[in-house]
Amino acid sequence: APLFSAIEMAPRDPILGITEAFNADKNPNKVNLGVGVYYDDNGKVPLLACVQKAEAQLMEKASPRTYLPIDGIAAYDKAVQELVFGADSAVVQEKRAITVQALGGTGALKLGADFLKRFSPNAQVWISDPSWENHRALFEFAGFTVNNYPYYDATTRGVNFTGMLNALNEMPAGAIVVLHACCHNPTGADLTEDQWTQVIQVVTQRGLVPFLDMAYQGFGDGIEADGKVVRRFAEAGGPLFVSNSFSKSFSLYGERVGALSIVAVSSEEAARVLSQLKRVIRTNYSNPPIHGGQVVATALSAPELRKQWEEELAGMRVRIREMRQALVQNLKEKAPNHNFDFVIQQRGMFSYSGLTKAQVERLRNEYSIYAVDTGRICVAALNSRNIDAVVDAIAKVL
Ligand code: PMP
Repeated sequence: APLFSAIEMAPRDPILGITEAFNADKNPNKVNLGVGVYYDDNGKVPLLACVQKAEAQLMEKASPRTYLPIDGIAAYDKAVQELVFGADSAVVQEKRAITVQALGGTGALKLGADFLKRFSPNAQVWISDPSWENHRALFEFAGFTVNNYPYYDATTRGVNFTGMLNALNEMPAGAIVVLHACCHNPTGADLTEDQWTQVIQVVTQRGLVPFLDMAYQGFGDGIEADGKVVRRFAEAGGPLFVSNSFSKSFSLYGERVGALSIVAVSSEEAARVLSQLKRVIRTNYSNPPIHGGQVVATALSAPELRKQWEEELAGMRVRIREMRQALVQNLKEKAPNHNFDFVIQQRGMFSYSGLTKAQVERLRNEYSIYAVDTGRICVAALNSRNIDAVVDAIAKVL
């Protein structure tokens, strides 16, 4: 039979489907809370001032666009490694950590997945229930069987920590555990420091392979606070995989800037790991693009720009927090029989709002307010102009 004749249409991406329906909606007061992007109070994706300044500096230099090394810009990899682990950390000082530039957080995850499939082909992967919608497919496409560990508890609107810990305690040695370092997507429910202590203990004792996905550093409690769990895992020793992304924290979505870091038990082991990781890169896309990596390397390394980035990131974090407060405060008035206090405890861009599929449908059909069927809303898409309409509509569908 001809090659393509038996190919079925792939399922539509549920979240992109929401945006398509939103774009087609003629209501001038429509609101899209289904997105995974930070919008400012004007409803715009910001272009950070630190990025503009870094770009101006780079334009001035007018460098030729030769190939980058396979693992990316050395200054970028170094700056990212120091951001993720701390410049004075043991893993950096002892050269036990390696960091390679990657095509966003997704690219970093895929490099890690391909590497793991080569060197631990029989391991299975565990992701949280629920998780970022691409985790399962990404690891499955890399050849893994993917399982869920219990995570979200709809009754408490928090983490089912007992369930999670029990699942970790039953995993075989070598199992790959994908953990959200902060700002859990989609629920907004994070572990406490004490719970992380217990997770690190089980992971270490059982010889599990932790893969920390950090796509929202700085959106929870700050750059340091959000990154702390990575440092704690690193202190517990390798092996450790960390994917991080600057899509959100630098508002550089389309530039595809992220990194994969791996912690090994010795510098000699780390060198071997890096050499093999480079082969994974070489056979996929050879070497990463220049621009985004240069912008981030410049902004992280120049003290003035670094300071400005930290301030701009804090601005995004604070605005999201204010929207959480406003949502809860206004719902208290408009829907006094419902308690939304949990929204304030949640971290990052998202909230599992507790809205049912039927309520989400009513919001969409009757009020042109678009959320994900699971009840996930992007708090970063709320602003001072749409919050009243959103609260009124939610109060009516409750
Ligand atoms: N991991 C998580 C948990 C995410 O939410 C996302 C995207 N929002 C990513 C990874 C991928 O990030 P990127 O867009 O940089 O590929």
